[in-house]
Amino acid sequence: MNYVEELELVETRLKKFYAGDDNRYKKHAWDLERAKQAEYQAIAERLLNVVGGSLGRRVEDNEDKDPILFGVGLGQFSSNSKLSTLHPTFLSYFIQTVRSLGYVVVGINEYYTSKKCPRCTEFIAQVTLRSFYCYSCKQYFHRDTMAAQNMCEIVLHRLKTFERPKHLQPLAADGSYPWMASSSTSSSNMAASSSTATGSTTAASSSSSSRKGQEEQIDPSLD
Ligand SMILES: [Zn+2]
Repeated sequence: MNYVEELELVETRLKKFYAGDDNRYKKHAWDLERAKQAEYQAIAERLLNVVGGSLGRRVEDNEDKDPILFGVGLGQFSSNSKLSTLHPTFLSYFIQTVRSLGYVVVGINEYYTSKKCPRCTEFIAQVTLRSFYCYSCKQYFHRDTMAAQNMCEIVLHRLKTFERPKHLQPLAADGSYPWMASSSTSSSNMAASSSTATGSTTAASSSSSSRKGQEEQIDPSLD
């Protein structure tokens, strides 16, 4: 959950940075672009530090050799989830950068990740924009922390079982799970991802499922 805290700090700092009262970075487009790149680098460095990495080091040269996988919620992007259209965004920069260092990045369908309690897996109540409350667990959750926990669960469950956790899948009226690879009503297929990483990085398994003809994906080749 460090990642979420980092990302929130990042947002705060970026806003402070660009919304400064003297508009100092808006005077020159070139300065703005350069400042943005520098800020992006600083943010990426801090995020990599969370997992023991660094911008100047390939993943296989990290001291901690545990496999590292970055999951990105696809809902943050346009509805067609084409990351190629995200060129100017920080996430686009971050994904390209960490991939160039050998990290694995996967996109995660955010379905139900902001609707289910990550602890007991039941539906959760929204209290405010960013605050949720589980009546079963009697516990508050921050929206982004909760979604991140659910996305971690999706990745871990997929790596272990090649399936998304059932409580984070849509449930059809007949009691079936249309996204399940084993579901006969689904045109799902399983495909092992080819990691662009070298060295000890573990490749994530991925599958693509269809829902109402629209592709849902954990796509190892987002770019
Ligand atoms: Zn709960």
